Amino acid sequence: MAQSRVAIVTGAARGIGAAVAKRLAEDGYAVGVLDLTEDHCKDTVAAIQQAGGTALAVGADVSNADQVTAAVSKVAEELGPPAVLVNNAGILRDNLLFKMSEDDWDLVLNVHLRGAFLMSREVQKYQTEAGWGRIVNLSSTSALGNRGQANYSAAKAGMQGFTKTLAIELGKFGITVNAIAPGFIETDMTAATAERVGVDFEQFKQGAAAAIPVQRVGQPEDIAAMASFFAREESGFVSGQVIYVAGGPQD
Ligand code: NAD
Repeated sequence: MAQSRVAIVTGAARGIGAAVAKRLAEDGYAVGVLDLTEDHCKDTVAAIQQAGGTALAVGADVSNADQVTAAVSKVAEELGPPAVLVNNAGILRDNLLFKMSEDDWDLVLNVHLRGAFLMSREVQKYQTEAGWGRIVNLSSTSALGNRGQANYSAAKAGMQGFTKTLAIELGKFGITVNAIAPGFIETDMTAATAERVGVDFEQFKQGAAAAIPVQRVGQPEDIAAMASFFAREESGFVSGQVIYVAGGPQD
């Protein structure tokens, strides 16, 4: 069994991260709900506590090394050593290449890749000591290429290589590392994309659903279910994998 029942979910104030945090709390984990500020985290923490679970709000920018160190220490001190880490925090700065600024590039690469690197480096200290751990990284179908997302698709493809390398390095410590690559999930992130391209969100979702084999867009809970699977004891022989959760197969 897991040495500790503590999980950290980044970007857990809303959307997919909030659903993952709630699901892991239902599964019995005490959850460090990490987002940019503690205040951002209060709705997720309240929902978990109202359902009888344990949660702690943690404010940190995952791309800032000092903040990451402080955040993981806080979880370890107040909840216990973290055994599960879900690297979910993310942002979009979409633009066609010729219009993409250096800041758009750096910000996206920093939050997704540097953020996952810093968080994993910090959390693995506790996991290797315990001889048990689970790391779940959020990739995306955009890893396969998506117009207007040179920065984001590079980051999400990078998450896949990062996942496989960590799986190789950390396997001997009882740690599995896997990635979830969601397709279209209904969150503030996809709502913001609809707004940016000037399409009503309901129409945007209908258009997306029509192109998805199961004929619907995904919900944050669809991703939470896969994160829950990867976090389980019984999934210990599954590592270095990328599972597309997209309502159909990927090329
Ligand atoms: P969202 O925008 O609704 O939520 C992202 C959360 O991350 C926010 O609460 C935000 O405050 C937080 N965050 C952003 N930068 C941060 C930082 N530097 N430090 C800490 N927290 C930070 O997004 P979502 O749709 O829930 O997406 C979650 C993850 O899933 C992201 O990695 C995203 O790229 C990925 N994803 C989403 C979709 C989709 O269709 N929604 C598809 C594929 C992959």
